[in-house]
Amino acid sequence: MPRKLAAGNWKMNGTTAALSELASIGHADIDVLICPPATLIAAAAAAAGDGLSIGGQDCHTGISGAHTGDIAAPMLADAGAKYVIVGHSERRTDHGETSETVRAKAEAALAAGLTPIICIGETLAEREAGATLQILTDQLAASTPDDATGANTVIAYEPVWAIGTGLVATTDQIAEVHAHLRADLTARFGAAGTDIALLYGGSVKAANAVEIFATPEVNGALVGGASLKASDFQPIVDALAAS
Ligand code: PEP
Repeated sequence: MPRKLAAGNWKMNGTTAALSELASIGHADIDVLICPPATLIAAAAAAAGDGLSIGGQDCHTGISGAHTGDIAAPMLADAGAKYVIVGHSERRTDHGETSETVRAKAEAALAAGLTPIICIGETLAEREAGATLQILTDQLAASTPDDATGANTVIAYEPVWAIGTGLVATTDQIAEVHAHLRADLTARFGAAGTDIALLYGGSVKAANAVEIFATPEVNGALVGGASLKASDFQPIVDALAAS
């Protein structure tokens, strides 16, 4: 069985004042993660309690070098990160990242001892064209390293049209996609593919978390807006733990 993970992505939000939120986020029984801006990772790792991990939102494919403004996976690990999000749709869109780049980033994360959270998702145009499952199969295949296992890698399905929009995929849509992704993972990785956690992401909040977590093959969530405040995020964590 995959481990359950509730992951928060603060995106480009938060200064040191936001660290106070971390005191009331976490859980003893499931994995809980906050990915703050890179400027806060070291302080967040120092502030986090036992039931909370800290992660990065992106990493470079290399370990060092002339890449102004970029951050290497070993630097994230050195700052106290345990995970790193790679291939978020905002990175794919804003920075033109391809699935091949995302895979190289995931490989860099694994080499640094970090767990990559590999994001994939279809646009609204792709869904309306009936291309969702093929797009996701292609993104998953091209973005995931060959040595992925349940112990070192997490996949997040995030329909682009549901991120930050308030639109949530229906549980039928989520169930269809997650069953499809699970089949792809087991076809490629065999039994190990059954252990890789599949997160849903896209306007998850306390009000919809219970039904999303009751959906087959949903092992957790990647949460943007509702992770910024502990009072919004911890109920989602608790709903996952109770699911
Ligand atoms: C995200 O940032 O990955 C995300 C799903 O954002 P939101 O929860 O705000 O839709």
